[in-house]
Amino acid sequence: MKPTFALIGLPTDRHSSFLRGPAKGPAFIRAALASDAHSIAAEDGHELGRDLIINDCGDAPLHEADGDDEIIERSILAPLRAGHCPISVGGDHSVTYPILRAVHAERGPVDILHFDAHPDLYDDYQGNKRSHASPFARIMEQGLARRLVQVGIRTLERRQRAQVERFGVEIIPMRTFSPYAVPILEGPLYVTIDLDGFDPSVAPGVSHHEPGGLTVRDVLNVLHAQRAPLVGADIVELNPDRDINGMTATVAVKLIRELCSYACNRL
Ligand code: MN
Ligand code: MN
Repeated sequence: MKPTFALIGLPTDRHSSFLRGPAKGPAFIRAALASDAHSIAAEDGHELGRDLIINDCGDAPLHEADGDDEIIERSILAPLRAGHCPISVGGDHSVTYPILRAVHAERGPVDILHFDAHPDLYDDYQGNKRSHASPFARIMEQGLARRLVQVGIRTLERRQRAQVERFGVEIIPMRTFSPYAVPILEGPLYVTIDLDGFDPSVAPGVSHHEPGGLTVRDVLNVLHAQRAPLVGADIVELNPDRDINGMTATVAVKLIRELCSYACNRL
């Protein structure tokens, strides 16, 4: 049976540290997904709406207040229980922690493939334990993942280096990046894509420009080499205020197509 996908918008940026904006992300990604400007075909020929069925579950009803984590968790649990593969879009990277709580509750510990310029492992950032710079500290200390493999990292400083040691995080730094350096994970696989992992020339619509990043092809090469079944994915940190001609939203749509076709090929 072909997998079906649930698209969930997570309009939140209260845990962003520098600029607000990612709360507007889901609407822009949905508009790009519906736009005639883009092909419906993934690179292997699977077509959106024909071979790849995405049920749009709308945006989670977030209040930008305490309690949003539980709402995010429920918005991911529902499609998982219905047998869908949840693809979450928008919001800042803080959303990945409540998402993983739901994934863990339904599927047990997963292997996480994480694309980002930043390791997001701070115990707290500016006093905020739920900062978008801290989700993977929460995920790892609660044992929600078996392995955390980070690709595209180019901002690893001392405080986070200690966390890498503590949690046994596997980092493929951008400096020595090759798709062959990324381990093939046993799975089940969860993929989290912070759009600032891409080079800013590819994806300018993010709050934190970090030059020297990944190309779209780099990310697809890493993804296509994996073999494990996909349990879910998120695409985070789109800041539409900073985007140019919808370039970054277009990258997000491409990633949605490729993630869905990946899942169809690896049941
Ligand atoms: Mn980042
Ligand atoms: Mn991030």
